Amino acid sequence: MEIFEKRDSLDLVLCRECGGRCCQGSPGIWVDPERFFALFFQGQRLTVEQLRGQLPALGLVLWGNSGVSMPAPRSLASGCAFLGIDGCQFTVAQRPCQCLALIPSRATLAQQQGCLCRLPEAYSRDAGRQRWQQYWQTV
Ligand code: SF4
Ligand code: SF4
Repeated sequence: MEIFEKRDSLDLVLCRECGGRCCQGSPGIWVDPERFFALFFQGQRLTVEQLRGQLPALGLVLWGNSGVSMPAPRSLASGCAFLGIDGCQFTVAQRPCQCLALIPSRATLAQQQGCLCRLPEAYSRDAGRQRWQQYWQTV
């Protein structure tokens, strides 16, 4: 899969040192609907309402502020609900596309707060919104 072949992402040493500052902000999302359903629903296609009913059991919620429904990890005041003391509680294979695609940068660690790590345009929130919008039109 494309995102696992990226050399720059999954820089675990740097991320361990950082402690997940990205995760302490907003959770990443699954930009690719097909990948999401393959991971959590054996590739089954669900309507928005069917998905809404299934998400709480997975610890996920449905984001809709952009006008398009997209599943995402639950958020807490401390950031993503899946950030544990040992890091992300998802397996690497399950993690949201944005989390896997984020390119770690040592510049993030050089400042007190915020994240300077780079998210490729293909994994932006807007790219995800467009892909989910297309997906829902086909269900
Ligand atoms: S903020 Fe950057 S360096 Fe820190 S965990 Fe996230 S991707 Fe890694
Ligand atoms: S899903 Fe995992 S990697 Fe992504 S924001 Fe949450 S804790 Fe971080």
